[in-house]
Amino acid sequence: MEKVAIVGTGPAGLTAAVYAARAGLEPVVIDGMQPGGQLTTTTEVENYPGFPESIDGTALVQNMRDQAARFGARYINGEITESDLSGSPLKLMLSDGSVIESLSIIIATGASAKYLGIESEQKLMGRGVSACATCDGAFYRGQNVAVVGGGDTAIEEAIFLTRIVAGVTVIHRRDELRASKILADRALANDKITFAWNSVVEEVLDVEKNEVTGLKLKNVKTGEVSRIDVTGVFMAIGHHPNTEAYEGQLELEDGFIKAENTRTSVAGVFAAGDVQDPDYKQAVTAAGSGCMAALEAERYLSSLNA
Ligand code: NAP
Repeated sequence: MEKVAIVGTGPAGLTAAVYAARAGLEPVVIDGMQPGGQLTTTTEVENYPGFPESIDGTALVQNMRDQAARFGARYINGEITESDLSGSPLKLMLSDGSVIESLSIIIATGASAKYLGIESEQKLMGRGVSACATCDGAFYRGQNVAVVGGGDTAIEEAIFLTRIVAGVTVIHRRDELRASKILADRALANDKITFAWNSVVEEVLDVEKNEVTGLKLKNVKTGEVSRIDVTGVFMAIGHHPNTEAYEGQLELEDGFIKAENTRTSVAGVFAAGDVQDPDYKQAVTAAGSGCMAALEAERYLSSLNA
């Protein structure tokens, strides 16, 4: 029987692991589909405090991993496919058929950005295709970029980017934004933002050159195909929190795990990072909530005299 099982090895899970391990709880940490989480898709992390010259995303999470291991965290490479949180012990089922039983669980499975799913987008990922303007916007200083989507995230990212880039084209599949009025009005009034309405991305150019040079757009109303020249494109068509293994077991809100100070609707189950955060979605806020979850788990275990 484990005292603490931590699911996910992004900054939330690994910070929880550092704290739980230092508290002598010998946490077991399960990697999941994407060890290291979304940070491993970013080459240079410039906004994580403590690294004035920036740090490679993969190196940052590896450091956190080593740090937790030094205090006794144990890692399992596996995917949790199901859970049973209906009573104690809490149960996590892995894809290989094994079951982890634990007195407490910290879910830090993150969220995955939605992508368009076209081949050229996949091929140019990290070479001009990104899903995080806060992470990668600075690489496009003075250049022209595009943002795909019409929701709050897309419009917020477009406005953020105008402080860095020469111009932003927002590509939206309809002729009306989904974003809140205040953000939409701000974007519509911004000289640096232009809109490609009723438009979808057919292809990200140029796979041959292995870098983004433009986008092939299609107007869904007229069928007209056009090209815009950009060096970066930010997909902002939503994120989906990775909660599949916990559906029906925990309260969710808009797809995110509902948590108050990381405490979920089930006693002994805590959630940290993007899986419970519709607002901030930053590595540093994920790490902070990982710390909170470990402290909450420690308190919970003390209350059980475990
Ligand atoms: P969202 O509200 O679901 O918007 C996604 C946008 O992407 C929509 O405009 C949608 O078009 C478009 N889209 C979806 N799939 C697409 C596809 N395959 N191809 C092209 N376009 C596609 O997601 P979000 O903007 O990430 O926001 C998520 C939640 O967080 C929302 O509740 C939002 O209000 C909230 N949020 C709030 C703030 C804030 O208040 N400051 C900031 C960020 C996010 P359609 O409009 O045609 O469906």
